[in-house]
Amino acid sequence: MESRKPLIAGNWKMFKTCPEATDTAQKLVELVGDVKSVDIMIAPTFTALAMVSEIIKDSPVELGAQNLYWEKEGAFTGEISAPMIVSAGCRYVIIGHSERRQFFGETDEGVNKKIKAAFEASLIPIVCVGETESERDSGKTFSVLDKQIQEGLKKLNLDASSPPVIAYEPIWAIGTGKTAQPEQAQEAHAYIRQLISEDFGIELASIIRILYGGSVKPGNIAELMALQDIDGALVGGASLKPETFSEIIHYQK
Ligand code: PEP
Repeated sequence: MESRKPLIAGNWKMFKTCPEATDTAQKLVELVGDVKSVDIMIAPTFTALAMVSEIIKDSPVELGAQNLYWEKEGAFTGEISAPMIVSAGCRYVIIGHSERRQFFGETDEGVNKKIKAAFEASLIPIVCVGETESERDSGKTFSVLDKQIQEGLKKLNLDASSPPVIAYEPIWAIGTGKTAQPEQAQEAHAYIRQLISEDFGIELASIIRILYGGSVKPGNIAELMALQDIDGALVGGASLKPETFSEIIHYQK
C-alpha cells in the first residue's frame, strides 16, 4: 500500500491581528521543533501571510491561504489571486470551505475554477467537502459528496505527480464540539477515495491525502489518525493556540 505522509493543517479563519498572528506562529515554530513525520500547514488571514511567512521560513511549518479568486488580476475589488498568495509565501490554499459555501455563496462551479487557478500557480489546493446535519439525517451524505467531488474536480487533469488534498468536513462537526464517530469518518473517507479512483484512477486515489475536519483536538486526533483512509486533519478552533495545535501535531507521542 502507498504510504501517505500525514498533513496537519490549521485554519485560523478570521482570527488574529498581524501581531497576534506573528506571535502565534513564533510560538508554534518553537513548539514543533523539527518534526519530520508529518507535514504542517497554517492558514492565517490574508493580511498576516507575508509576515508569518518570514517567521516560519526555516521551520517545518508551511503556509496556506484560506481562499483565492480564480482570475490572476483585474478589476475585482477585494479579491486576491493565486499568484498574489504565492508571492506572500503560500504553498497551500484552502478551497470551498463550508463557511465560504454557507456565508459567501460559493458553488461547486466556483470551487472548480479556484482549484484550476491554484494548480496553475503551483499551489496545492485543499478542497473541502462535507454534508450538513439534515443531509446526513436524510441519508444524502454520499450523494452530496458525489456532487461536490464530481463538480468541484470536473475536467481537471489530475494526476499522481501533483495531487490535490481533499478535506472531508461534515458541517455538523465544524466548530460544534461534535466529532464524527470513527466509523462515520472512515466510511466517508473510503467513499471519497473510491470516487477519486473511479474518476481519476487508482494511482491518484492511492496517494491523495484525505484530511478529516470537524472539532479535531488533542484528545481525538490519535483515534482519527489510526483509521485507514484518514491522512491528516484540517483543524479550526484548536489550531488557534500554538500549544494545542502542537499537541495535535505530536499526536504520535
Ligand atoms: C475548520 O474550520 O475547517 C474546522 C474543522 O473547524 P473546527 O476544528 O473548529 O471544527
